[in-house]
Amino acid sequence: MWQVVGQTRAVSLLQHSLERGVLAHAYLFVGPPHVGKMKLALNLAQALNCEAAEPPCGECDSCQKIDLVKHADVQIIGLTYNGNSAEAKLRAEISIDQIRDVQHSANLPPFEGKYKVFIIDGAELLSSEAANCLLKTLEEPIDRVIFILLTTNEQLLPATVVSRCQRVELPPLAASEVEAILNQRGIEPQKAKLVARLCHGCPGWALSAAMDGDLLQQRAERIDRLLDIINADYEERFAYAGQLATEFSQSRGAVQEILNLWVDWWHDLLLVKVGCGDIITNVDLEDRLIDSARGYGLAQIRAVINGIQAAGEQLGQNANPRLVLEVLMLGIPKGKEGTVKYG
Ligand SMILES: [Zn+2]
Repeated sequence: MWQVVGQTRAVSLLQHSLERGVLAHAYLFVGPPHVGKMKLALNLAQALNCEAAEPPCGECDSCQKIDLVKHADVQIIGLTYNGNSAEAKLRAEISIDQIRDVQHSANLPPFEGKYKVFIIDGAELLSSEAANCLLKTLEEPIDRVIFILLTTNEQLLPATVVSRCQRVELPPLAASEVEAILNQRGIEPQKAKLVARLCHGCPGWALSAAMDGDLLQQRAERIDRLLDIINADYEERFAYAGQLATEFSQSRGAVQEILNLWVDWWHDLLLVKVGCGDIITNVDLEDRLIDSARGYGLAQIRAVINGIQAAGEQLGQNANPRLVLEVLMLGIPKGKEGTVKYG
């Protein structure tokens, strides 16, 4: 009935609360991007408003409208919802005006359903004024109104807001679990195996990557660039650092994704090196990894992983991106093989 993939613990907690009529007025769903937070929130909204005997049925009028985000009593608030998209794209925070609108709407009775549900996507992006405003609403619960806050990083939320919510953690799934789900959905086995590893337990990403070739194409290009850089001279490395720094000013997420991919690559080298090649992430590039691993010592690989992770942390702490990335580029040891070419 619940359509969220995996997350049996979270689902049984919510199911149990629904059955016993002991729902919280506010929930905080915590988990990495694409793990299923929005799906679970919509499922809970369906369960609250479903017209069938065993909610959420997923088929009644109410469930279908919620699935399409067209139900009058279920609202999603975030950077890219509510308001025209051009304006939304410019926004970096969830504003106090958005939360004031929510407060106004929360005080009106449900329009077509049984419960009003407000889903705040990316709650860590609430401006401090917006968070304070929301806190007032959370402190005075309204009958038949439920808030669901979704976040990838609860540390960025005020403790006062967190303490008003029932916390529900959505951990990453095991790769085997994601692979089984993809197989069930008819994805060809080899592709299912690859994206199940690449998604790091987040089935939303795996499903997108399996259905739409762009994500895998982008990953292939990023890996090619990484391998170029490993064999490049300092001049080219500095140029790439500059390019990444510019990209960082436009999209922090994209650069973090590239760094994550780099960590995966070096972590795979480590695994190959210690004879655990069966659990690598980049399963389609095993031969390349085996070949490349010959050129490095374990300590060298560990140092690179530490360097990439440190760079990621420094970027998160607003260090000068160009400087951080240049230091990173300098620290990457050249591959020793250079003899085997792949086309
Ligand atoms: Zn239903």
